[in-house]
Amino acid sequence: MHSTASDGSITPEGVVRRARAAGLHGIALTDHDTLAGVPEAVAAGERYEIRVVAGCEFSVAAPWGEMHVLGYFLPLESAELDSFLERCRADRLRRAREMVQRLHTLGIDVPFETVLEQSAGGAVGRPHVARAIVRHGGARDTSDAFDRFIGRDRPAFVEKALPSFRAVVDVVHAAGGVVSVAHLKERGTRAVIEGLKDEGLDAVETRHPSHDPDLRARLTDIALELGLLRTGGSDWHGDPEPGSSHGTIGSQQVPREWLDRLDAFRTGSLNTAAS
Ligand code: AMP
Ligand code: ZN
Repeated sequence: MHSTASDGSITPEGVVRRARAAGLHGIALTDHDTLAGVPEAVAAGERYEIRVVAGCEFSVAAPWGEMHVLGYFLPLESAELDSFLERCRADRLRRAREMVQRLHTLGIDVPFETVLEQSAGGAVGRPHVARAIVRHGGARDTSDAFDRFIGRDRPAFVEKALPSFRAVVDVVHAAGGVVSVAHLKERGTRAVIEGLKDEGLDAVETRHPSHDPDLRARLTDIALELGLLRTGGSDWHGDPEPGSSHGTIGSQQVPREWLDRLDAFRTGSLNTAAS
């Protein structure tokens, strides 16, 4: 799940409160390129008796452009991970500035300060740029802003500087975390997942709002055949904005057993994912 630490619309504490109201026993907070929301979420989790897994969603280069990678069970005190994420966030700022410049050349004047206001100190993403465009009358709603300006292949889109999958695997593993590949959708072929496994992948996100039952079944077969663990989540970003494709809170059922296996795997009591 995402919070105001990146492009979610609800504070980390609020996310945990909503998880409690939705009857969940545990969540993972996986903001884009930051762990800044984790301490608040963990503290709230203690109050509301919700297990909060410290996570992060990384963006990496893929043959088709961009792929998302989830790091779970991340420590708050890894200097290497911190500096990696700091570089990612600095690049997000650079890119948001460039998008603002491109918008200007398209006749859409959005002050960079408005983008910063929308992100409120969190990791800056396109949703913040989209909200700033809407505030300045450049689009009807955020979905319209993506469709017209900042969606991939639209005229104000700017690519992030994407690290390699291997670089993210290395930094997550060095910090003691577990690596899962997020919402692969139709890209989730056996060949792709096998290639990622060769580079250090631990788990596959099989359950995601964008995965229909057929795809879910295919990804499950591949994960089990390759001895990979399974993860899932709603990718909840707060209550949906018009046109959003993220799930509602609690929409993905993730069995407790999956979390138990992930726990066992990272602590070394499950030696191979397949055992
Ligand atoms: P970024 O990491 O800055 O490229 O932002 C990616 C985020 O933008 C995704 O996680 C979604 O939340 C959001 N997003 C991407 N495409 C769209 C879209 N067409 N409409 C609304 N939100 C989108
Ligand atoms: Zn994602």
